[in-house]
Amino acid sequence: MIALDSGLGRPAMAACYLLEGQGSVAVIEAGTNHSVPRIQALLQARGWSLEQVSHVMVTHVHLDHAGGAGTLMALCPRAQLVVHPRGARHMVAPERLEASVRQVYGDAVFDRDYGTLVPVSEHRVLALDDGASLSVGGRSLLFRHTPGHARHHFCIWDARTRGWFTGDTFGLCYRGFDGPQGPFIVPTTTPVQFDPPALKASIALLMARSPDWMYLTHFGRIAASARLASDLQAHIDGLVAIARDCAQREHREAAMATAMMARFLGAAQAQEVGLDPTTVEALLANDVALNAQGLACWLDQQRR
Ligand SMILES: [Zn+2]
Repeated sequence: MIALDSGLGRPAMAACYLLEGQGSVAVIEAGTNHSVPRIQALLQARGWSLEQVSHVMVTHVHLDHAGGAGTLMALCPRAQLVVHPRGARHMVAPERLEASVRQVYGDAVFDRDYGTLVPVSEHRVLALDDGASLSVGGRSLLFRHTPGHARHHFCIWDARTRGWFTGDTFGLCYRGFDGPQGPFIVPTTTPVQFDPPALKASIALLMARSPDWMYLTHFGRIAASARLASDLQAHIDGLVAIARDCAQREHREAAMATAMMARFLGAAQAQEVGLDPTTVEALLANDVALNAQGLACWLDQQRR
């Protein structure tokens, strides 16, 4: 398999994967509309025609993963779109998804980063239940529903390499942070379906298979380890505690972002990531802001 940079934000921030099989190729994560020319170029460079694309799979329908799916599907006449049952209708009729994301990011950022979402015909959408498997290019893939980051999230197990395509379930882990102690990982709690106990259970579900590899969307392949899983679990607890502490503050979202950044800076320093705090802060600022928004949504949902 081969990873490519989807082109979102800075380099090495979001990935798509090609799973090359016998006579056909699958794309895992479609990225955004801007990712599609990159995917096309890589397919061409690897000698694949668009007719040979058998599947486009999205781990969930957040737009850095699925925003380009409709555009890519329109180019690949034989492909099926593989998606969580809860995400399927958003791929067929993306108007509501687009409207809700515009609310989170604002119109200017939406237009710049995502463009217009292209619908996929219903008969080309394959919605897979928890535990379903699929034969793709001579290999068997297993799909497990992994709520916690989003209720429309699944992860994909590739038995051949003993690795999970984790989407956002196994957090964010950028290669620039790799240090002598290995990768530095943080969870993503973005709006609007962060569910801490579900996310912790999903991480445990991934680890229960004793994986060798995790193929992260943000970003790239990392060796699976119990240390990374326990770092994630501890951060989830820590972020929930931060959210509860800040719940009554006047500017709670800003307060949560500040406390979260302090927590991540401390963890990065303890792990000797080799970046100065200003750089760490700059690299994580966007994720921390989105995480704080997600925690605020979660707090509001707790009150209902
Ligand atoms: Zn996501």
